[in-house]
Amino acid sequence: MSEEASRRLMDLAAVDLARLRHVGPKRLEALEKLGLDNVLDLVNFYPRRYLFRGARVDLSDLRVGEEAAVFATVLSSSARRTRQGRALVELEVSDGDETIRISFFNQSWRQRQLPKGSRAIFYGTLSEYRARRQMVNPTVDVVQGELEEGSRQRTSGTLAIYPATARVGLSSWEIGGLVDEALRRAGPLEDPLDVEWREQWGLLDRTAAYWEIHQPSDPERAIAARRRLVFDEFLRLQLLVALRRRRLRHGESGVAHPVADLDLDASTPSTQLGLLGRFLRAHPFTLTDAQRRVLEEIAHDMAAPVPMHRLVQGDVGSGKTLVATAALVMALAGGRQGALMAPTEVLAEQLYAALRRDLALVELEDPAVLGSWRPARVALLSARVKAKERHAILAGLARGEIDVVVGTHALLHEEVRFARLGLVVIDEQHRFGVEQRATLRDKGRRASAEGRDPDLLVMTATPIPRTAALAVFGDLDRSTIDHLPPGRQPVTTTWIREPTDEAQVWARVRAEVEAGRRAYVICPLVEESERAEATSAVAERTRLATGELAGLSVGLLHGQMSSHDKEEALSQFRSGEIGVLVATVVVEVGVDVPEASIIVIEDAWRFGLAQLHQLRGRVGRGRDRSECYVLGPAPSADARERLEALERVSDGFALAEVDLSLRGEGTLMGARQRGRSDLRLGNLVRDVEVLELAQRAAERIAERGLFAEGEWAGEIRTLIEPDEAEFLFRS
Ligand code: ADP
Ligand code: MG
Repeated sequence: MSEEASRRLMDLAAVDLARLRHVGPKRLEALEKLGLDNVLDLVNFYPRRYLFRGARVDLSDLRVGEEAAVFATVLSSSARRTRQGRALVELEVSDGDETIRISFFNQSWRQRQLPKGSRAIFYGTLSEYRARRQMVNPTVDVVQGELEEGSRQRTSGTLAIYPATARVGLSSWEIGGLVDEALRRAGPLEDPLDVEWREQWGLLDRTAAYWEIHQPSDPERAIAARRRLVFDEFLRLQLLVALRRRRLRHGESGVAHPVADLDLDASTPSTQLGLLGRFLRAHPFTLTDAQRRVLEEIAHDMAAPVPMHRLVQGDVGSGKTLVATAALVMALAGGRQGALMAPTEVLAEQLYAALRRDLALVELEDPAVLGSWRPARVALLSARVKAKERHAILAGLARGEIDVVVGTHALLHEEVRFARLGLVVIDEQHRFGVEQRATLRDKGRRASAEGRDPDLLVMTATPIPRTAALAVFGDLDRSTIDHLPPGRQPVTTTWIREPTDEAQVWARVRAEVEAGRRAYVICPLVEESERAEATSAVAERTRLATGELAGLSVGLLHGQMSSHDKEEALSQFRSGEIGVLVATVVVEVGVDVPEASIIVIEDAWRFGLAQLHQLRGRVGRGRDRSECYVLGPAPSADARERLEALERVSDGFALAEVDLSLRGEGTLMGARQRGRSDLRLGNLVRDVEVLELAQRAAERIAERGLFAEGEWAGEIRTLIEPDEAEFLFRS
């Protein structure tokens, strides 16, 4: 590529990672595990933090209670078990002047990762234990090669630390090298912003921003680079949202579902009720006022020929599933299909079971045979489904023989087609981005013979502040389920600070299980390694089953288990065959076992507040009084405030405010988003200033007439891919 011609950023998406000089099959596989498929993904894979040569801390300067990164060599290591039976790996490390101890709990694999002589950067808080200076469970980045020689990366004296690298067996060091090569070979990148705008808003140019985010020479430049890239993310999002709104306003491109009988008059005979009416009457629950109000809003949208685009917010346990099910019934009543997308397989399985159970309450009129009725057909598309069955499901959907399909993001797959998709429901929306939403809608449009947009309903328990809502959900109307079903008792939350007090917690677990209820034990979240998380859950289960909880039936659930084993564990827990479920955060969202009345969260400081609230939401779903115990010390002031807030506040929305004020940022978007228009760097709370700039830029772009039908020149072209633009523009 020549120096003069600048390259479109999006063109990098077409360059395979295998084209990079140092990428062979093994590295390719590791990169894939990080979700990186091409060079664009790679340059958009940003460092989590940096180690600046100037700012690198000497151990001798570090005071107890301070958080820092130290670059040190392992002098020795040993492994043993604590008196409570936890695996403990202890290292002696030195930075040349001083030696400290590093302790890892429940991470026995650290001994293999960090043999004597290896060098790594340890991030953590310096503490003191029995007069020894130490770090407990720090974040680790193994360093290979020399820090100070060679390429620009090495000479800049800055080490960029990339996330999740240990999990896939790549060091930050290696990733930095690949990024360096990718950026060098890409050369100058086209910039969608005029110099004028950049100067006015103090933004770096795009090429510089990419170099500086990966290889900043000092912290200020990293901040400047981030600001520019955040701007790009927001601008892209704003344009997408603006384009969508425009297209939606185009008129009657949606499905007008025949919607009736929401106000059920008790005296109406069942025979005169429509499908929804019969469903609601047959269902064992009476809708709460909040559920009814939200369902009315949905019904109103669904009846109209304009495509529905609605976000339903409701705290954990507020009963979003029933609302979604009723909406699906409305779609079925008009002879349409429905799709329900869940963020995890565990949740998809559960929703599938619930839908099968609930939809069995009503029968559909069979258009093929006038006056005859048939049960609704519900299918599950998950990793667990075998090829043959999968083919049958795909064919059934395409022919319109399956009424409702439930699945994970597998539903987004190219080969999934529908005959007459009328409604898409996305559960726990914060896990899915704007882009996935657009894909599903587009799928519906392509799928249905009439080329109509399916209605879209997204559900989330995550409270979303206004700024965020405008940016990411600007294309959605909102409804809120603002109270819980009757009979709920607040969950009592207790933080157990001292290990010596844990015995009483296990006694409570035993009592609850012996009384026929169920208990969750959530195992520590170990940064960087899913496998390590699984290991810690496995070890903890053994420890509990042979120790404190001996005699109870203790099961296991973690992400590394096969789908089949996961489902089995959960159904045994549901039926009570298993009384205690030792689990990782796979149960974090949505899992609904009303008999569970106690949850114990170990090493709770490792979890964010929103996550803790989600976990706590696994109990208190029935009529039983429920308890939540969070265990472990708080190694920082921030962690202490989080755990205290959890003890004090039970309402999710109130807690979200606390979270925002504590952290200055939300966990709004979750960490696992993938699509290209998702926010990777941008933070909707912290970066409001940049968000506003991006909004202004989007307006100016619109004023220039670049939104004209079928045309995407200049700015937009470098921000949105042509195929993406194509479906945005199609009417
Ligand atoms: P979430 O909003 O967290 O997704 P769910 O839909 O899983 O909540 O509902 C939580 C629990 O409340 C479930 O056990 C569900 O069966 C129950 N539930 C839902 N609606 C009602 C209602 N109207 N009356 C009583 N219980 C309800
Ligand atoms: Mg739910």
